[in-house]
Amino acid sequence: MSSESGTQLDVAIIGGGIIGICAAAFLAEAGRKVTIFDRTGICEETSSGNAAAFAFSDVLPLAHKGMIRQLPKWLADPLGPLSVPPAYLPRLLPWLIRFWRAGAPEKYEAGLAAQAGMMKLAEAEWMGLLDRSGTRPMLREDGSLELYESEAEFRASLPGWAARARFDIGFRHVEGEDIATLQPGLSPRFVKGTFVPGWKTVADPKLLGKAVWAYAQAKGARFEMARIDRVAANQDEAALTLADGTTRRARHLVVAAGAWSHLLARQLGDRIPLETERGYNTTLPKGAFDVKRQLIFSGHGFVITPLETGLRVGGAVELGGIERPPNYDRSKALLQKAQKFLPGLDPVGGREWMGFRPSLPDSVPVIGRAPGGRSVVYAFGHGHLGLTQAAATGRLIRGLVLGQTPPIDLAPFSPLRF
Ligand SMILES: Cc1cc2nc3c(=O)[nH]c(=O)nc-3n(C[C@H](O)[C@H](O)[C@H](O)COP(=O)(O)OP(=O)(O)OC[C@H]3O[C@@H](n4cnc5c(N)ncnc54)[C@H](O)[C@@H]3O)c2cc1C
Repeated sequence: MSSESGTQLDVAIIGGGIIGICAAAFLAEAGRKVTIFDRTGICEETSSGNAAAFAFSDVLPLAHKGMIRQLPKWLADPLGPLSVPPAYLPRLLPWLIRFWRAGAPEKYEAGLAAQAGMMKLAEAEWMGLLDRSGTRPMLREDGSLELYESEAEFRASLPGWAARARFDIGFRHVEGEDIATLQPGLSPRFVKGTFVPGWKTVADPKLLGKAVWAYAQAKGARFEMARIDRVAANQDEAALTLADGTTRRARHLVVAAGAWSHLLARQLGDRIPLETERGYNTTLPKGAFDVKRQLIFSGHGFVITPLETGLRVGGAVELGGIERPPNYDRSKALLQKAQKFLPGLDPVGGREWMGFRPSLPDSVPVIGRAPGGRSVVYAFGHGHLGLTQAAATGRLIRGLVLGQTPPIDLAPFSPLRF
């Protein structure tokens, strides 16, 4: 492999989102010399504006029966919880077919078990990393409240709660005064709710990402602002070609480039069916409403999160690819719904945002060695749960680079499973 740069880096990570940051932190703690490459900076893209949840109880793969049943209703509303721009449908179709197949009972069950194991690790690893990096004060431990507008909607959620109960996830169904106590000022349209005490949020996902990065830097990690245009690898090393035409060689390469990772994997000979579920939100000034804990409106596909930096209203899924410009009518539609659900909400002064969830059809990330070269490790495709699973992913990536036995079975996460 030819290279213009003389020295070989130890570990190069492509992607300075929360996954790359956590991988850098774990590797730097182990004494490895890490360099993150990112075209925009540290925690500046999807990891900057998400809903801030450590959603450790969110173990259900998305392709579950209930969701597939909801699809026709959701797709009928162009600004509803789920949308597909018609022109994108032909490109999306192979992914949709895989998604539909992932809902088959045995596949669903396997995905559920894999996610449940991953979430146990996720919680333990985040609590450890928060402590070691001095970021524990950014954690909010006040649970979440999921809300239902009808008995029928509540009943439809019960199989999902029963599945969570099998994995010892705590929750409590609530109604009436209990709902009002957990969140004063809610519209009376919500007849039932579920309180999940173990759900956690962070003060602001961008601030957390930057703080964890500061910790990684203090342990020796470096950053280089660059777009990586080409990657190549053999058993011994990887080569990165930057947008300015220069190259870097590295003993190990970690691909953690979020929704763009499949483009790099393809250059390494691996076809991974990564799509993006684009999501939208609006962050209102802090005083917009006194929200006590994260509120989840699953039937409408969005959440409201009280952050240190404001009140974030958003979610939804737009299966529209990585190239199309954002349609902020979606942010506005979610904010209008939020006003109905919290009648006292002040909707003025918000900042709209769109991010690219990197999503695999079975809702399970790819965490593993690239088939073609022992020098490359993949860490992407965390979908709705990248913040939640970032520390666990960092721990697993450290193990792969160091050649350690993983704390969980990595077979369900294999890049070879497609
Ligand atoms: C609306 C919304 C709400 C969400 N809420 C939550 C939540 O509450 N909890 C949760 O756990 N998850 C949530 N998520 C999901 C979470 O945000 C993502 O899973 C996570 O941010 C993905 O992190 P990442 O590091 O893989 O990717 P990213 O954050 O996208 O980082 C990838 C980085 O790679 C860089 N990159 C890509 N290609 C190249 C290249 N060729 N050269 C150089 N750099 C490159 C990009 O610039 C980017 O900075 C939400 C997502 C959205 C959209």
